[in-house]
Amino acid sequence: MKHIFSVDLEDWEHIHYLKGDRGNLSKVLSNTVRLLDTLDKYNVKATFFVVGEVAENYPELLQVLHEKGHEIGFHTYRHIPLWNSCPSRLREEIMLFKKLIKDIIGGEVLGFRAPLFSLDDSTNWAIGVLKEQGFLYDSSIFPAKTNIYGVPNASRKPYWISEEDILGGSAEGSLVELPLLVYKFLAFRIPAAGGFYIRLLPLSLFKKALERSEKEGSPATIYIHPRDIDQNPPRLNIGLFGRFVVYHNTRGALGKVETLLSEYSFGRAIDFVEKFIGG
Ligand SMILES: [Zn+2]
Repeated sequence: MKHIFSVDLEDWEHIHYLKGDRGNLSKVLSNTVRLLDTLDKYNVKATFFVVGEVAENYPELLQVLHEKGHEIGFHTYRHIPLWNSCPSRLREEIMLFKKLIKDIIGGEVLGFRAPLFSLDDSTNWAIGVLKEQGFLYDSSIFPAKTNIYGVPNASRKPYWISEEDILGGSAEGSLVELPLLVYKFLAFRIPAAGGFYIRLLPLSLFKKALERSEKEGSPATIYIHPRDIDQNPPRLNIGLFGRFVVYHNTRGALGKVETLLSEYSFGRAIDFVEKFIGG
């Protein structure tokens, strides 16, 4: 079974914990090139959910992603969570991003991921905006409780999502939802989706979660940020908790990703979504 490998393409300046002067923190190019080399090594095509500012600043990086056969999705223009956005702002950002992508590579944008997985009952309006703007799928539902985000009672498997039902109870909704991978253990749902969790948690948990998805017959969605594999992260004024979340084990993350890429099969979100829609 092909699972879904996604990259949230953003820079150090886009992290949630950063306050005050952002300065020049750009390392997205070097970290993404390392990720691309690793994906090439295992011949994996991935989905990159791109922040508009990164596409604007590094059009040549977008061209490389496109030429290598990776998919371009949208991750908002300036990485503002949906909680701090509104329908008209999201609509404007989508139009701006689509035009930018058309100018750079001439392709369509069909998938979305909200910053900080900020799609929940309070931001379900985003589904309507995405549908109206021609999107086919969303991958923002984090079906576990964390201290910032999460929809713990949402389906763990891909499903149809609508504004009225973000949990996955409808036969057919507006968009296909690709929830992030969690490992269900007793009454708990442990995030096994990537990012901070892949740096923190043992790889065996990810393997168990992937194997369970295979048994259940549906692909898992995992994600990584370029900064998750930074060998020499910039020193930022982000408080103790922020430092733990963003710096912990960035040197060990790429090795863990490589193990998963070598032992399991991964591909782009859109290829699964087209099959899902086609029945
Ligand atoms: Zn993000």
